[in-house]
Amino acid sequence: MALSVEASEIVEIFQWMESEESYDLSSEKLEKLEGEIADVLLYLLQLSAKFEIDPVKAASRKLQVNEKKYPIEKAKGSAKKYNEF
Ligand SMILES: [Mg+2]
Repeated sequence: MALSVEASEIVEIFQWMESEESYDLSSEKLEKLEGEIADVLLYLLQLSAKFEIDPVKAASRKLQVNEKKYPIEKAKGSAKKYNEF
């Protein structure tokens, strides 16, 4: 639950921003983002440790799965889901 709240705090930073502003954060917003990214990472690491999951290996495996689901020649520049190609 805390992980979800912290992820939402990241979203909150960008809520109501125009796209252009979201790519050029003020130093105050950037500092806030850094803190919230740290919060999310710390909760993820706690969860990973609890279930003895190596988060780097998990991410690597997921990238391999996504590479097959979303081959670059079909997915590049597309927002379609893998079953919509
Ligand atoms: Mg926080």
